[in-house]
Amino acid sequence: MATTYQKLFENNKRWVENQLQTNPAYFDKLAIGQTPEYLFIGCSDSRAPASIITGTQPGEIFEHRNVANLVVSTDMNLMAVLQYSVEILKVKHIIVCGHYGCGGVAASQKKNHNGLIDNWLRTIRDTYRSNRKELDSIANEELRLRRLAELNVKEQVFHLAMTSIVQEAFDRHQFLQLHGWVYDLETGMIRDLDISIERDFKDFDLYNCNHGEHAHPQD
Ligand SMILES: [Zn+2]
Repeated sequence: MATTYQKLFENNKRWVENQLQTNPAYFDKLAIGQTPEYLFIGCSDSRAPASIITGTQPGEIFEHRNVANLVVSTDMNLMAVLQYSVEILKVKHIIVCGHYGCGGVAASQKKNHNGLIDNWLRTIRDTYRSNRKELDSIANEELRLRRLAELNVKEQVFHLAMTSIVQEAFDRHQFLQLHGWVYDLETGMIRDLDISIERDFKDFDLYNCNHGEHAHPQD
């Protein structure tokens, strides 16, 4: 156990050496500040680390992860990350990334009780209820959960678009695009769900919730 844990420090030392070998000023540059273009909201699952699956480097992605990549407007942690990244860092893209084989999505459908986590995952049951007809028609459980993972991402992008932080950014015509992705653990591939706020949520008059002026975030 101790040896496995110690490995992390050895890895770190090797990584520092490698980085400095390639670029002696590597850490000096990073220490000056960050200007990431992306905010990544992903699942805490250890198999879906943002920078590795997207091949990006430190400094490129501002990141928030929680179980089942949920956007909950009362989550102060997420809201602080969102506000800082939109208003201070001025990220250009916010990506909600779910994944197939998500334990959180699966747990939300189980009848047994898991304690606190059930409350956190409850919103996925709401998503199921809103899409019951489609989901109930998928007989295969794995395929049904895959589809639910996609619908969960779509729902979270919608939640994101509804936050005052994003609404205000749209109102001042700040460049900001919202995206929904699903990562496939079995193939390593990312799938863009091609979510368009104006097309997919047109039944819900998103922009009249605030000041009535239309922004075109997906232009
Ligand atoms: Zn997950």
